[in-house]
Amino acid sequence: MPDLQELHAAPGAEAPEHDPHQDLRATVRAFAQSEIAPRIPHMEAADTIEDGLVTEMARMGWIGVTIPAGHGGMDAGHTAKTVLTEELSYVSAAMGAAVQASVLGTAMIDHFGTAEQKRTWLPAIADGSVLPTIAVTEEDSGGHVLSTASTGRRSKRHWVLTGRKVYVGNSHIGRLHGVVVRTGEGARGLTAFLVEADRDGVHLAPHTPRIGLRGFSFGELLLDSVRVPDSHRIGEVGDGLDVAYSSSVLYGRLNLAAVALGILAATHDQVTRYVRGRPRIARESVVRGRVGEIGVLLHLSRLAVHDAARRLDLGLPCDADLMAAKYQAVQAVLRATGLGMKTHGAAGLLADLPMERYRRDAHCIDPPAGTSDIQLHRLAEMALAPGARPQWSVRFARPRPDRTLTQQPGSGARQCPSHP
Ligand SMILES: Cc1cc2nc3c(=O)[nH]c(=O)nc-3n(C[C@H](O)[C@H](O)[C@H](O)COP(=O)(O)OP(=O)(O)OC[C@H]3O[C@@H](n4cnc5c(N)ncnc54)[C@H](O)[C@@H]3O)c2cc1C
Repeated sequence: MPDLQELHAAPGAEAPEHDPHQDLRATVRAFAQSEIAPRIPHMEAADTIEDGLVTEMARMGWIGVTIPAGHGGMDAGHTAKTVLTEELSYVSAAMGAAVQASVLGTAMIDHFGTAEQKRTWLPAIADGSVLPTIAVTEEDSGGHVLSTASTGRRSKRHWVLTGRKVYVGNSHIGRLHGVVVRTGEGARGLTAFLVEADRDGVHLAPHTPRIGLRGFSFGELLLDSVRVPDSHRIGEVGDGLDVAYSSSVLYGRLNLAAVALGILAATHDQVTRYVRGRPRIARESVVRGRVGEIGVLLHLSRLAVHDAARRLDLGLPCDADLMAAKYQAVQAVLRATGLGMKTHGAAGLLADLPMERYRRDAHCIDPPAGTSDIQLHRLAEMALAPGARPQWSVRFARPRPDRTLTQQPGSGARQCPSHP
């Protein structure tokens, strides 16, 4: 019988001869261990926003991981983004969530921005001087973007934006908010705009405690008759729903799946370590079964998430793969952290072990980029009426076979840290 660590590492494809993401993985892992890990006790106790760390990561160029090189970005693709987010989240899901939230904010500019908007904003985001957000959700609309009630009213060459957005990732440290508001009736009645955080009428509700992801702000943005020029409009008038959905499907699903994967790997390693150190429980078949199940959850989630990223990088149709990856990784991390808590007994309740933090953080990963219910709902739509809606992955395909052909599905399973 293989030992527990082998059980975790054994399945999966053969490691490619050259993993183009190995250097990135090593750099992020080293940063997370040396810069983020020591801050976690403070982040957990104080629950203040880790502005400094996020700024530092932005200056490393990580928010620009998918920004084309011509605009100053890393141009490294979605697999690289997944590796980056997963490695950060292994140490701190809050910091993984913070980086992915602003990476998500680049999608609308990249996909719908004019040449001038890309020249203005992408280099500044890539060098870390401007941190973007995407602000779509409202209290009453939730995951149903068409219920958006915030408004945009045209006033000659300007727009006046009014409303309230909630759960905006990096709300309190973002410098450029990408907001979606109602400018007309029906599905073509939404429009997206870029709004600088220091514009008159932009306000933030005070940061309030959350059960998890401490150190990350996902709060409220208030727009009180904010005037923006028409040059800040992203896409055409009426493109707002497309802007929101394409960002969420092509970036959000995979980003959050990668956060879940990081927590899942950390849970696997914590549970394994805990059980190994306690021969009394390590003998019990129930406990061994839990360790085995967490290994399976991790392995299958890695396959799903890295395969979806690979397909996106290759320019293959993959909307359903992205949704399934998010669903799989979230369900897996919720199940695994539950098993982890049980396996720790009373020790799982202690704040000086990370298990309860993993559990709390895991709960925060289900809602963003669509709850698990919404992923199932969308997957059912695609299955029952195939072709009824165009796939975002087809519309915005940008194949990059040069960097990803060697990255086979599941290869991440071997390259991910075992973190003994
Ligand atoms: C950590 C975090 C970061 C976030 N970051 C951002 C961000 O950067 N920008 C942003 O705009 N928003 C962000 N959000 C908000 C997120 O997108 C919403 O939480 C999500 O869309 C769900 O909305 P809701 O929480 O209001 O739940 P609701 O939509 O009110 O759903 C409540 C319940 O009803 C179920 N439900 C709702 N509709 C359906 C349906 N059609 N079929 C089946 N079940 C359904 C849901 O699954 C859920 O169980 C973030 C949220 C979190 C927790």
